Amino acid sequence: MRSSRLPAFGLAIILLLPRPAEAQQLPVIEQTLVEWVAAQKHALPNSMRNFDQEQNRNALFETMLSSIVSREWEKASQAAQKLNYQLARINEANGPFAVASDHKGVDPIVVVNMSPSRDVVVQAPHVPFEKGTAEQAITLLKNLGARAAIISGAHRCASRSFTLCNGRTAVCSGSLESFRASDVGHNTGTLFHLAHTLFSDRWKNSIVMSLHRMEADSDGVRTAVIISNGVIADDDNATTAATRLRFALSDLVKAPGRIVSCNVGSDSKYDYRPLCGFTNVQGRHVNGDKDACRFGVMQGTGRFIHLEQDRSVLDPYAENLSEIERHPFHRALIRSLSEILPAVPQR
Ligand SMILES: [Zn+2]
Repeated sequence: MRSSRLPAFGLAIILLLPRPAEAQQLPVIEQTLVEWVAAQKHALPNSMRNFDQEQNRNALFETMLSSIVSREWEKASQAAQKLNYQLARINEANGPFAVASDHKGVDPIVVVNMSPSRDVVVQAPHVPFEKGTAEQAITLLKNLGARAAIISGAHRCASRSFTLCNGRTAVCSGSLESFRASDVGHNTGTLFHLAHTLFSDRWKNSIVMSLHRMEADSDGVRTAVIISNGVIADDDNATTAATRLRFALSDLVKAPGRIVSCNVGSDSKYDYRPLCGFTNVQGRHVNGDKDACRFGVMQGTGRFIHLEQDRSVLDPYAENLSEIERHPFHRALIRSLSEILPAVPQR
């Protein structure tokens, strides 16, 4: 329901009427989801001493998200206010959507689809560093009728402190170091990870899709997409969604080595870079790892899809989103995912 400009007396009458809980809706934002997401703040690189969470914030955040899912809007709004979060509603096709964002640009942006059709949660943990991934997350959320999208608030390099989780990267300083504490794909102590665990535990068979951008290959076979199920093992028989996506996409994008999988042994002949998401903590968690912060999974649930993509794939989302439905890779991705992803179970 859109907000309308009622005369004052009309509004007063409506306010006096007793309303069922379902009718107590969130304030409506008259923007598209993509416009709203693009307008959100992100804490800048090296702008924070650490990424420690204030006490209470975890419990409040959990209350806000579970109240959104159960449509207890008043409870959700109270929690949002205490968290310094904006909580509102955006009406679009395949929606409506409840949207939540941290006014400070530190904690995650969460978008929940109130009428989902596919059992999948889309995640973009490296916004704004990885251009195009936020727009892609929102486009997939809408086009696929996904359950929800979780998008990072702070830049992955915002915090000057490091996470205790294992793995190393050179993306923040140019030389190899541990992941920064603000890198939500590599820190289990964040509200991003809390949103992930809450959704993936509640929707217990949902697929979790983590979207990433990598540098383009400069030589050899131009690999544009590296897909992984997050498990350090081959899946040559394509028992997991990620590997099925690899084969479905390759059927549509007929260029050997352009789409590869970390779980298909024969793809190693393309000598692609090992960007497989094995240290991604959301992937480890949903694959059933006991300690998602350390180790890594040798066998898992297969509920994870880690997608590394180069600029040929992501620039159209970042630069020309209004034409995205014409872009061959996007069309292939939607077609493949539509075949692979499970439907939301009927109650
Ligand atoms: Zn990434």
